[in-house]
Amino acid sequence: MNLKIAKWKNNAISPVIFMIDDIANVVMKKSQDDNLYIGEDWGHFCKEKNSMWDFLYNNLLSKFPEIKTTFFLVTDSRVPMRLNESYTYTEPIDKNKNFMEFLQYLDKKSNVELAYHGTSHGKAAKEYDDFLQEWETFNSLEEAIGQTNKGKELFKKVLGHYPSGGKYCGYQAGDFGDESIAKTQFKWWSYNYDYLKWDKNHDNKEYTFDLNMNQGVVNIPTTVDASTLSLKIIKKLFKRKYLKSLYLFLVKRKTIEGHIESLYQNKEVISLYEHSSPYRTDKVIQYPNIISDIDNLNYLFSLLSKKDVWYATCDELANYYIDRNNIDIKINNNNFKLLSKTPLTDQITLLSDSKQELYLYDSKENLIQKSISKENKQLFTYKFKINENYTILENKI
Ligand SMILES: [Zn+2]
Repeated sequence: MNLKIAKWKNNAISPVIFMIDDIANVVMKKSQDDNLYIGEDWGHFCKEKNSMWDFLYNNLLSKFPEIKTTFFLVTDSRVPMRLNESYTYTEPIDKNKNFMEFLQYLDKKSNVELAYHGTSHGKAAKEYDDFLQEWETFNSLEEAIGQTNKGKELFKKVLGHYPSGGKYCGYQAGDFGDESIAKTQFKWWSYNYDYLKWDKNHDNKEYTFDLNMNQGVVNIPTTVDASTLSLKIIKKLFKRKYLKSLYLFLVKRKTIEGHIESLYQNKEVISLYEHSSPYRTDKVIQYPNIISDIDNLNYLFSLLSKKDVWYATCDELANYYIDRNNIDIKINNNNFKLLSKTPLTDQITLLSDSKQELYLYDSKENLIQKSISKENKQLFTYKFKINENYTILENKI
């Protein structure tokens, strides 16, 4: 019998991750009146009309219920971009009961993950270019660990558990970032703007958009800037982002579709990166953002819905990766055992080359499941126990 672990769950070709940065207890009004307009909320207005969640849910998530979203949460009062600026509203996540309940509601949804994204996001300066991203403000490893643990406690106070992973503010690690992340017990982290390798025509053939380990932490790359518009989004014709996409196509023969197809062909992670709101305190529109990119997001997710992909949160993806790397399969005729130093955290998919349907039994001869046939392979997706004897047969006992 031949049996191996599928690269991704259900032997899908690529995982799809939807990352949204900067959900926070923040409002940035652009209008003068008291009404809430689309784009002004960063999360504070919970499920109210025109809130961030109301917009995202009604314009995207309800149309593609298979999407799994990982939000990156700023835990404390977020600082403005420049010293003399301010948000309309910015408070820690434990300031209002409503907002705490909203975060708990999101956290309990099986298709949403809340991850860590610092405390204040950084330190404002006189000029925007001098803004220090949170991990750049730390002067020692102890300071980085101390502040990150403080942020994690605030997260736990509201949600009842620590975050499983997170992302640097502005993807800036500072001098102590990676070591502080390894020493604050994160399972996974999103370290880099990996998509820039594509954008800037990075010629390093060694570079992949795959997962890897960094000091014991799973590195989940950010591979797609979702504000790179498809040239089919003609509503955005003559907008800056559209012209940039047109330039990429005309000069470099690159399209967002081509990039996604290349990730897919290489069985790499398709992680779409977004922000919760377009508005910063300096009145500059921050890209990517779910409001400006909504048509592009609808287009990209409809493109992905025709592919064999696995929608996952970052936590689910990290679990699969860790389990896959830790397991050895020991096969003896029709029996097998999985060996690992740690128990499996989640389901994994085993696959066999058999064209014929197969049956999986536990050590007491109880039928666990019939295989799923997919492209002349047989799949079993199950939360296996380490060291337990399993049997695979061509016929039912
Ligand atoms: Zn951020």
